[in-house]
Amino acid sequence: MPTDSAPTPLNTTTCDLAIVGAGAAGLFASIWAGLTDPSISIIAVDGARKIGAKILVAGGGRCNVTHAAVSETAYYGSSRNSIRNVLRQFPVEKTVEFFASRGVTLKAEPTGKLFPTTDDAHTILDALLAAVKTSRVRLLNPWRVTGVEHSGSDFLIARDTAFDHVPGDPAFIRARRLILATGGKALPRTGSDGLGYSFAKALGHTLTPQIVPALVPLTLQQNGQQSHPLVTLSGLALPCTLEVRGGTNKRLAAFTNDTLLTHFGLSGPGPLDISRSLQAAQATDAGAALYINFLPGYLTDDLDQMLATGAGTSVGNFVSDLSRRKPPREPLELAEGVTGLCDLPERLIRVLCAMANIEPSMPCHALTRDSRKALSRTLTDLKLPISGTRGFTFAEVTAGGIPLSEIQLATMESRVRPGLHLCGEILDVDGRIGGYNFQWAWASGFVAGKSAAMALGQQSAT
Ligand SMILES: Cc1cc2nc3c(=O)[nH]c(=O)nc-3n(C[C@H](O)[C@H](O)[C@H](O)COP(=O)(O)OP(=O)(O)OC[C@H]3O[C@@H](n4cnc5c(N)ncnc54)[C@H](O)[C@@H]3O)c2cc1C
Repeated sequence: MPTDSAPTPLNTTTCDLAIVGAGAAGLFASIWAGLTDPSISIIAVDGARKIGAKILVAGGGRCNVTHAAVSETAYYGSSRNSIRNVLRQFPVEKTVEFFASRGVTLKAEPTGKLFPTTDDAHTILDALLAAVKTSRVRLLNPWRVTGVEHSGSDFLIARDTAFDHVPGDPAFIRARRLILATGGKALPRTGSDGLGYSFAKALGHTLTPQIVPALVPLTLQQNGQQSHPLVTLSGLALPCTLEVRGGTNKRLAAFTNDTLLTHFGLSGPGPLDISRSLQAAQATDAGAALYINFLPGYLTDDLDQMLATGAGTSVGNFVSDLSRRKPPREPLELAEGVTGLCDLPERLIRVLCAMANIEPSMPCHALTRDSRKALSRTLTDLKLPISGTRGFTFAEVTAGGIPLSEIQLATMESRVRPGLHLCGEILDVDGRIGGYNFQWAWASGFVAGKSAAMALGQQSAT
């Protein structure tokens, strides 16, 4: 039980370990703390009326739990060595084993993503909540935290009294150890609105200079009243190569994956994945830009030469026929399981031809050298005037947070505030699309929960 070295406000409950935030990381930390030492008292709190909203919306309601091949190269933020250090303490096999032991079988799709065989995120949330119960964790919600302080040798956690709560629930929690798992700022309506950062700061932590949405749809600039021609193709999805290049034209990142054209710009796995690199590049290089190749595996020169041999075939038919050919090169960073390369629908060909000022019915031999070049460039290397992102409201994850350099990676304990552990998205780690973000939540939550419980056991023994 907590030591009573500082005055305790009325309506305070005490416990050995408090966990603030019961999303993926907080739930996992709770479970593993309870499994590690069943004798400690654990309270997990969350401001949300319903626990697990983000788990339920993940992977389009199917919950992409993890990825078959997780390595630090799929992550950004703090150093990759540090990220690897945490990931290897709870590898993918352990995630699969954990869910299997709770009766949930995971299946790998051709993309490498792992989902529950039920294709229903409820299966995952139900398994986690059942495990929380087995671990004898007291879960309080809605219980929105308004402040956290280090009081004496304990942590005092205050509930937001202006916010909903269950009548009879305490207003304060005093705990010997604290795990902060309040997530980032992505999808704030689920309860992750960034307030958790202020708790970490109050306890002595710093934040990265930039905290921005990642895995986020991109918006295309309007030209006056005129919207970008691609937004007229809203609803069209096809595999494309997206490339971020710096002002010197150096390639900084590239992915070939499914791209969805929308009424505001671009969404789907390819644009979400590249959004991180684009924002990072544009933060330091005003000339950095995004380029799209609708014919992955074709360079501009490849297409230019092929069009020159197109003779009397119409430009539209010629481009459309490319779908029956194998691309001359391996597409850049082709995502696993992506099919339908170069299969361009007619309405896209029409719009792209119009952008290059070419009539699709025109025979290839009638193209001037310049118009051939313009068309080849539009199809394979089109610079996109990205005006920004759709922001945290539509983002899947947060880039930035508390740097891992402030954390002891073997325990996820704070280097600046002993007794405090941190896990999940509140930290400066964000992964690519494909289950990597949950794997980070599981791994860091496991380490934080287990280590906090072990430390409490050792403290009690001394
Ligand atoms: C639409 C969408 C789809 C996604 N799909 C996938 C996917 O398929 N695969 C994948 O790997 N990742 C996916 N992600 C990312 C993944 O969901 C997150 O990286 C992961 O949930 C982060 O876990 P976390 O526990 O650190 O944070 P969160 O899940 O954000 O949980 C933080 C919790 O803290 C609580 N909290 C915050 N502040 C307070 C406070 N002041 N008081 C009390 N409680 C508080 C919140 O209510 C919340 O429950 C998706 C994200 C979104 C938004």
